[in-house]
Amino acid sequence: NKFEQLGLNESLLKAILDLGFENPSEVQEKAIPLLLEKDTDMVALAQTGTGKTAAFGFPLIQKIDANNRNTQALVLSPTRELCLQITNELKNYAKYEKSINVVAVYGGASITEQARDIKRGAQIIVATPGRMQDMINRGLVNIKNIDYCVLDEADEMLNMGFYEDIVSILSDTPDEKNTWLFSATMPQEVARIAKQFMSEPVEITV
Ligand code: AMP
Repeated sequence: NKFEQLGLNESLLKAILDLGFENPSEVQEKAIPLLLEKDTDMVALAQTGTGKTAAFGFPLIQKIDANNRNTQALVLSPTRELCLQITNELKNYAKYEKSINVVAVYGGASITEQARDIKRGAQIIVATPGRMQDMINRGLVNIKNIDYCVLDEADEMLNMGFYEDIVSILSDTPDEKNTWLFSATMPQEVARIAKQFMSEPVEITV
């Protein structure tokens, strides 16, 4: 099992066994060791279905400090469906970790309940940009101290008109965080986000 050679800890390897993943996909093989070893920004060109959720999700779960209740990571994704799917996957990855809370934040559902879930302690927030911006405006969430920001399906988010929200959200995060950007394509708007908000990202393509 090649997952054992990527630097993943025991609890993740156990969770991976339960998931039934036998070998890492290409994007996982390329991204996981880099993200675990270094505090680096990353641009990954990868389509859906390539296993990109685990490519950022495994390192994210391993790097989160379970003893710290503060929000340490923000994952932005284009749709409610993807948001819920990523949340569900991250919870599966973290099942053998002591206490890592993952909270989904998306439109069309109660903002009060989502705010309450965050208040209980959400080390990882998985959000759609519109609702996230709304919660920031209302002072319901604090992302000023996050260590990691994942932009998943960045080209899709920008296609959907989230440029302004993304810029505004990223401006509310610390400069020192690491940003991991995943996109199937690299149109100008995505490149612009990368240039504006990332520093010397390692680039991988699958
Ligand atoms: P994603 O590209 O993250 O949406 O993943 C696509 C599908 O592939 C999901 O159903 C995953 O559960 C599955 N998957 C991800 N990584 C692996 C792997 N290493 N081996 C087998 N299946 C995987």
